[in-house]
Amino acid sequence: MEYALITGGSRGIGRSACLELALMGYPVIINYASNESAALRTKQLIEDKGGTAVLLPFDVASDHETEKALEQWKSDHPDDYIAVLVNNAGIRKDNVMVFMEDDQWHDVLNISLNGFFNVTRRLLKDMISKRFGRIINIVSLSGIKGLPGQTNYSASKAGVIGATKALAQELASRRITVNAIAPGFIATDMTQGLDQDALKQTIPARRFGQPEEVAALIGFLASEKAAYITGEVISINGGLYT
Ligand code: NAP
Repeated sequence: MEYALITGGSRGIGRSACLELALMGYPVIINYASNESAALRTKQLIEDKGGTAVLLPFDVASDHETEKALEQWKSDHPDDYIAVLVNNAGIRKDNVMVFMEDDQWHDVLNISLNGFFNVTRRLLKDMISKRFGRIINIVSLSGIKGLPGQTNYSASKAGVIGATKALAQELASRRITVNAIAPGFIATDMTQGLDQDALKQTIPARRFGQPEEVAALIGFLASEKAAYITGEVISINGGLYT
């Protein structure tokens, strides 16, 4: 069986991605850091729609935890493999660089950039031997344009964009695609504290995006129809930046 793993699948964009991939017929592995009740809610939403899902909590920033969780999953599923990976787990700890603390820098880089490495590298052998895979990395407008107050976050997302382009070329001949999605402002917990009314005025579409709109693009990139798209960074931002 081919599974889909979504890191940070308990809430926000990740939850919508879990639902989208479950509706496409994938059994879904919901990763999260600590919010078990939110992850259980994602699972319930999938099961209500007739899909199947399991929880797999681990901290993507920890290479050891990631290895342990994925090795355990593999030994429980020797005949299955993870065909679709959505590297979605992410946090932001904004500060201007002059005041940035060590943990603000390292926590953001460790989750977004090192998390991408910790998870992805462990799934490649199966994808290569099965000659099919879809890797979809959730980056950000911040990683393309750079945003003040987010040198840590912009650097982490720009790093993943570079890795996406390189990895896509390593894997294209094996029918594995690697793409990045760069959302602008999406209505999730991550954007809760922002001044939404002021920010909306800067967005040509005059609204925040919905997680489901990002998930629809994830679903398309995961589909057979997107087989010839690889190494791309696709923006989804209401016209905010192109
Ligand atoms: P969110 O609602 O804050 O959800 C974050 C998710 O990441 C949660 O499921 C959380 O798990 C998980 N997570 C955090 N740290 C983790 C770790 N160390 N290991 C495993 N999982 C971890 O965020 P979101 O807005 O949906 O964002 C999802 C992705 O889109 C992020 O990469 C973010 O940078 C990117 N993005 C978001 C926006 C936006 O406007 N919202 C824009 C551009 C890009 P718990 O529930 O256990 O905490």
